[in-house]
Amino acid sequence: MTAVRHVDVLVVGAGPAGLTAAAALAARGVGRVEVLERQRTPGGMPRSCAHGGFGTWHRPLTGPRYARGLVEAAARAGAVLRTGVTALDWTGPLDLATVGPEGHRTIRARAVVLATGARERPRTARLVPGTRPAGVYTTGELQQAVHLYGQPVGTRAVIVGVEDVSYAAAGTLRRAGTAVVALVTDLPGHRTAPARALDTRLRRGVPLLTGTTVTELLGHGRLSGVRVRHHDGRTAVLPCDTVVFTGDFVPDHELARRGALTLDPRTRGPAVDGALRTSRPGVFAAGNVLHAVERAATAAREGTYVAASVAASLAGGDWPAGVPLTVDPPLRWITPGRVTPADALPYTLRTAARLTRPLVEVGQDGRVLHRERVHGAAAGRSLTLTARWTVRVDPDGGPVRVRVV
Ligand SMILES: Cc1cc2nc3c(=O)[nH]c(=O)nc-3n(C[C@H](O)[C@H](O)[C@H](O)COP(=O)(O)OP(=O)(O)OC[C@H]3O[C@@H](n4cnc5c(N)ncnc54)[C@H](O)[C@@H]3O)c2cc1C
Repeated sequence: MTAVRHVDVLVVGAGPAGLTAAAALAARGVGRVEVLERQRTPGGMPRSCAHGGFGTWHRPLTGPRYARGLVEAAARAGAVLRTGVTALDWTGPLDLATVGPEGHRTIRARAVVLATGARERPRTARLVPGTRPAGVYTTGELQQAVHLYGQPVGTRAVIVGVEDVSYAAAGTLRRAGTAVVALVTDLPGHRTAPARALDTRLRRGVPLLTGTTVTELLGHGRLSGVRVRHHDGRTAVLPCDTVVFTGDFVPDHELARRGALTLDPRTRGPAVDGALRTSRPGVFAAGNVLHAVERAATAAREGTYVAASVAASLAGGDWPAGVPLTVDPPLRWITPGRVTPADALPYTLRTAARLTRPLVEVGQDGRVLHRERVHGAAAGRSLTLTARWTVRVDPDGGPVRVRVV
């Protein structure tokens, strides 16, 4: 039986969401704020994103530089960062069993913030058959191998996926001196900015194979190729020694699941209300664990926001049930997925079809609460809806629905 150590707020995950939450909480003087990070260095996903695209318009930063700034801010505010420590499971409502350099420990907190981020579904989860050779990566693994450990990757790579992250993987492979044989997708087209797709295809000479599925990995010891099938039934083998499975992110919801917290069936992250309260009193969640995957600035904004909610809860705030918030097609999901009248955090919506400047309507029990024309998005990408209407929600009413009119 391990001794129980007490902290005021325990943050699990030292990415943008967790670090920003910890910095804001420590600055508010809520007591001992501790952040657990299973990696040896804090910073989360941006640490292995050597490219720019982080920070602000005025101060653009590379991922590692951005991560360093967040780590420094959290430490400066007085949060304690404990790296190489994994939160394994719950041993009580607000108790977590951990393992790290000091061995097994139990930490009891007055509030817990889950900021465990997201992960890409690897080859096994995508059920791609074939042999089990070396040379098979997700983008995260590729970025770590190249940018953090300087490991050689291979000479010829196939990238599965056509999202922003797939194009980021192409950039990483180029930097590693690996030729990109093709980008492969079963979709009819790419899901990145047209200029980026054009540049990769025309200037870099990387073919985009649409309507095409990777059906088998080949090779013993090292990958020797991937078998692909076009939707008209034609098959081919693309010789390569490296394949990168990109995109298809899922929230890292392991702790939420183990704690029997209610999960949102659409996002697959823990279900939260607009104060980022989960179904368990005292447990909050923020960042990509809620919405795989949004930009770092969104995760950081939620980190700041959740800090205010945690502080209010520690000061004796209640834990209202909230009204379910749902979407109609072509919208796929919305997060937060429950609403209380006090909520003020903007909502993230994912669409299944391209929407150009859509008019979004929020309603409850036949009443229109709000109408707003929002920025459009391509299929699989996100829209943002303000929370200006939440004050009009009837906390005793039926579900609130969001639809495109
Ligand atoms: C290839 C790639 C390129 C990207 N490029 C950009 C970009 O250009 N601009 C941009 O704004 N965003 C970009 N992003 C997205 C950005 O990285 C994320 O939005 C951001 O990192 C999310 O922050 P987070 O704190 O929610 O999660 P993460 O950054 O994923 O951090 C979660 C942390 O929790 C830790 N953790 C998980 N479980 C446990 C546990 N049980 N115990 C202890 N620790 C745990 C993980 O190790 C991780 O460090 C990119 C993402 C990828 C994958």
